[in-house]
Amino acid sequence: MAMKSTNPFESDRRAMIDRQLRRRGIREPRVLEAMDAVPRHEFVPAEFLPEAYEDRPLPIGESETISQPYMVAAMTAAARIDPGHRVLEVGTGSGYQAAILAHLGARVVTIERNSRLSEEARARLARLGLKDVVVITGDGTRGYPPGAPYNAIVVTAGAPGPPQALLDQLADGGRLVIPIGGLRQQILQVIFKHEGQYAVRDLDPCQFVPLVGEHGWPLKEGG
Ligand code: SAM
Repeated sequence: MAMKSTNPFESDRRAMIDRQLRRRGIREPRVLEAMDAVPRHEFVPAEFLPEAYEDRPLPIGESETISQPYMVAAMTAAARIDPGHRVLEVGTGSGYQAAILAHLGARVVTIERNSRLSEEARARLARLGLKDVVVITGDGTRGYPPGAPYNAIVVTAGAPGPPQALLDQLADGGRLVIPIGGLRQQILQVIFKHEGQYAVRDLDPCQFVPLVGEHGWPLKEGG
């Protein structure tokens, strides 16, 4: 896929791949190649450009964040994306995770509840030539039935439990990658669906912003 961007941060990106990803056990060549190809600095606000490839999440406005590079790579590896897979992402944010999934050849639908972020992400992804990513504004805890069933669903916000709608919208053999736990601390889980049964595997501890919605955390007063 053609990605319309020059490479001003090439050495930062290489260092990110070696120190943050390879050394921590991300081995899948296609995931490493996608993390190398997608220009993360295009997804962060101008004031954070010098920190674009640092080992942490960064603010993107609206009290939300673009996830830490390692977490994006770990979730992508856990989702085991093959070209042509139908993939749902819940929590578009900046659009970075969606761009990585699309770079792997997935047909991506991504849902964001914050309309300002979803509009910005849609424009950014189009500008970068990622025309095949569909950005929806709405409550992703309900999934997106028109695109189902999905080979993989990646949730990039922390949930109190796996939303039933997302389990229902997984294809047989599909996997849900989702941080599950409390408001401040979660465990990244991968939930496999096979002949209507589910198997859960715990991956890394993590700290995500809350998944807010009908089948997530309740919206705070004024939030
Ligand atoms: N994947 C994003 C990226 O690559 O930049 C980072 C996502 S950020 C950690 C979590 C996002 O989930 C926030 O933008 C937040 O607004 C969104 N979110 C929270 N609850 C949601 C819901 N029910 N449906 C859709 N998006 C939700």
